[in-house]
Amino acid sequence: MYEFGVKGFYDKSRLKSEYDAIVIGAGIGGLVCGAFLAKAGKKVLIAEQHSMPGGYCTSFKRKGFIFDSAVHHIGGCGRWSIVGRCFSELDIDLDFHHLDPMDNIVFPSRSVEIPADIDEYSENLQNQFPAEKENIAKFFKEFTKLYWSIINNKAHSALIEKYNGVTFSETLDNFFADPQLKSILGGQWGYLGSLPNEVSTIGMCQMLINYLKDGAYFPVGGSQKFANAILKRFIDLGGEIILSSMVEKILLDGDKAAGIALKDGQEVLAGTVISNVDAKQTFHELLPTKVNGNFAAKLNGMQESASFFLLYLGVDSEIDLSKLKRGFYYPSDGPFTKDNWKYISVPTKVDQTLAPDNKQIIFSLVALDKEYDDITDWDDLKKKLTESTIDYLSEFAPGLRDHIEVVDAATPKTLKRYTLNSKGAPYGWAVTNDQTGANRLQPTTPFKGLYLAGHWTNPGPGIASVVSSGWRVANIILKEEKQ
Ligand SMILES: Cc1cc2nc3c(=O)[nH]c(=O)nc-3n(C[C@H](O)[C@H](O)[C@H](O)COP(=O)(O)OP(=O)(O)OC[C@H]3O[C@@H](n4cnc5c(N)ncnc54)[C@H](O)[C@@H]3O)c2cc1C
Repeated sequence: MYEFGVKGFYDKSRLKSEYDAIVIGAGIGGLVCGAFLAKAGKKVLIAEQHSMPGGYCTSFKRKGFIFDSAVHHIGGCGRWSIVGRCFSELDIDLDFHHLDPMDNIVFPSRSVEIPADIDEYSENLQNQFPAEKENIAKFFKEFTKLYWSIINNKAHSALIEKYNGVTFSETLDNFFADPQLKSILGGQWGYLGSLPNEVSTIGMCQMLINYLKDGAYFPVGGSQKFANAILKRFIDLGGEIILSSMVEKILLDGDKAAGIALKDGQEVLAGTVISNVDAKQTFHELLPTKVNGNFAAKLNGMQESASFFLLYLGVDSEIDLSKLKRGFYYPSDGPFTKDNWKYISVPTKVDQTLAPDNKQIIFSLVALDKEYDDITDWDDLKKKLTESTIDYLSEFAPGLRDHIEVVDAATPKTLKRYTLNSKGAPYGWAVTNDQTGANRLQPTTPFKGLYLAGHWTNPGPGIASVVSSGWRVANIILKEEKQ
């Protein structure tokens, strides 16, 4: 099975000239879609430009340390939740660590622990904010109902209509008066990259309830294991994958998908093509025909989610990391600003197999104060942020610099290079009201036989959502075929 850097049996010479379906990109949305189609007996090919499967859900190894490139935990891996149900349908067996507490929110004046259980969290908050007791209970009840409407794709549910176009700040203001309570409930906005006064209630609900109700999980051995497990099942079901294989064009027959052309010029035919890649790339670069009208106008007006700087540290076993909690670190008690916050985790506290000899890993995600297009000197940005982030971490882990054995870092440009997500967007389109739910791109496109799976389409970003997207697209394809 695929492990770091081992290409094994992915041999282009075995390619057939035609498949039932071709998936462009081996991100999690693409892998899941491919696996469900293969399970239905389809001949499926996945073409991936990188040498590893998983997109943002990959790991890399340096001096014995296994670093997760981007994804640091996954929502909904329990038996009855999205990932759990998907794995059970596909007969995938993977071990997870259940994270409890699931997160912390660290403000200068206080630190709040978020338990991995919605009822416990609600009760804790009710005890801390007795004047808001009833409102807190109502909030969680309503959000749980809204969550299931979103997940079950009930586009016309009264609850979805109620929250369509409503920002999370507006929702918090409608439920609560206490500013501290609102800061805590809004404190995980960083998972979607848009401030509470920009992020859609629907997007926040999906993310929050997914983590609280279904739990947050860490795949044993790191996030690459998650991608590998789906890929292995895809291959066992008869699917084929080619790595290091850039798709350069989607072939069309009139306005219908007809296959792909690889960068080396090889053409492979299929009447069904699923794009798991950046939506702008799909419509502006891969398709030979320009999209017109309302679809083009919508696409051109859409905004990517803001990207991050990432720091990966491998440290020796002597350092005391007890003060570093997994979660969000804010520079002030509020209001939130877009830049200057961090997400920090020490994955080896959850899974010691990621580092040798009881050594530790520190991962830090840092929000940027500049837009992608305004950054001119990426090396300088990387150097400065590496130094300032190590300084910041040293406040919680005194003497940190003397214990570092491996330092690596990624900028938005690095994220773009490895995944081709435009501007290194971590979550596809920003999760704002005009780009969420029915306003996000849909899985079907103006071209017959061409579908989208992944975080540029519904239901949106995050592993649980793209699992849902890949599964949903496979169902749409199989259903359309029967009609
Ligand atoms: C820093 C960071 C932290 C995150 N943390 C979390 C987290 O903790 N939990 C969570 O749930 N989510 C997290 N996310 C979000 C999550 O990782 C993404 O929403 C999700 O992984 C996107 O999956 P996808 O299926 O859309 O594909 P992607 O991961 O975007 O993969 C797309 C794939 O397509 C390939 N590709 C692109 N163009 C071509 C081409 N022309 N030909 C062939 N292949 C191509 C790419 O190489 C890539 O493998 C994080 C994201 C980032 C960046």
